Amino acid sequence: MPKLNPRHAVYVGSFDPITLGHCDIITRGARLFDHLTVGIGINPSKSPLFTPQERLAMLREILGPLQNVEIACVEGLAVSFVKDCGAGVMLRGVRTLTDIETEFTMSLANHVLAPEIETVFLMASEKYSHISSSLIKQIAMLGSNTGDEPLSSFVPLPVIEPLRMKFRPATEPPTTR
Ligand code: ADP
Repeated sequence: MPKLNPRHAVYVGSFDPITLGHCDIITRGARLFDHLTVGIGINPSKSPLFTPQERLAMLREILGPLQNVEIACVEGLAVSFVKDCGAGVMLRGVRTLTDIETEFTMSLANHVLAPEIETVFLMASEKYSHISSSLIKQIAMLGSNTGDEPLSSFVPLPVIEPLRMKFRPATEPPTTR
């Protein structure tokens, strides 16, 4: 089997949707490694807000300027995808102690599955450490009723309109006098 490249990392996530926190990890990862592959995880048992095609289109637009970053969809085990890419590193981001616990357990399991792959963790930047895709979906859902959700503090610009569209009421509410 060909040797895996330790200068090539893979960052797999749901990106449903991609957030400023994810973008921060990707930008920093792209500076640390020669190549970074961003994998959009497709889990048939989850029902995501955005289809894989929608997520792929958003990531392409947002990450396009990063020369050494490529994007792909991932079905099946993340470690198998990392190996298929020829990469030696799995990149992950951690925000909280809960993240560290979950990620540590996952990295141990991945190490059993593929001992030749190293997991590298980047600590979330302070200003993004409170951001998660699920929080953003809640803000978009609840804020769409009032029309004043501050999404630009959480997601890159190309995500805002698609996110608003997902929570737009089917019919406009009746106007009251
Ligand atoms: P998953 O479904 O695998 O949790 P996510 O897209 O939510 O997918 O996250 C992918 C990776 O990015 C995980 O390692 C997660 O801990 C990390 N991550 C998520 N949000 C942030 C953030 N705001 N800052 C840093 N890392 C983050």
